[in-house]
Amino acid sequence: MPTIGVLALQGGFREHGAHLRECGIDPVYIRDPDELARCAGLIIPGGESSCLRRLMAANHIDDAIADAVKSGKLYVWGTCAGAILAAAQVVDEQPCLAIIDACIARNVFGSQLDSFTEDVVVPAISDAPQHLVYIRAPGITKVWGTTRILHTAHDTIAAAENDQVIITSFHPELAQTLDFHRYFIKKCGLTPKSERHAPWDRMSWMRNS
Ligand code: GLN
Repeated sequence: MPTIGVLALQGGFREHGAHLRECGIDPVYIRDPDELARCAGLIIPGGESSCLRRLMAANHIDDAIADAVKSGKLYVWGTCAGAILAAAQVVDEQPCLAIIDACIARNVFGSQLDSFTEDVVVPAISDAPQHLVYIRAPGITKVWGTTRILHTAHDTIAAAENDQVIITSFHPELAQTLDFHRYFIKKCGLTPKSERHAPWDRMSWMRNS
């Protein structure tokens, strides 16, 4: 049975795994290219994009992900650092996977202390309000081609998608609602179970470990 993978080299992969489980998906934590074969979709979590980029290259998984997307075999959702790695252009840096026509800039909302949240409806995803957590978040400066804008915050594009790839500046895995995960599961051609809320610790993103 195909499932959804979460890239587990660095960053918030456990939180994504927990949300997928709440949606009835048994996630697989991915560290090597061979493990991608079981995945209809892959979540690239938030963390530190420079660190993730090096670890992906060391594990030879960057080319495997890009090739699987380009040959139509894999859906990808990049959150925060994951979005930076997915974008076709990164301001002042080389792109990594280049799997979605979007330009992204790191840390556009400010430093760690400028991290913020907002409660908004993102109509493309759900009619229920979403609690969006931005932590040293990147901003999408432009999209082109088949890429569609899903959400804008403080005049900056914060979520976009094409037919195979979603990028979000924020962290739905750190909020109670499962709607973004449900949306991605359906995009991958799988079926989420019907409950819509995960157990939620509002401050989980402030843990030290
Ligand atoms: N600022 C980080 C980067 O540039 C991303 C932060 C995050 O993923 N929460 O990689």
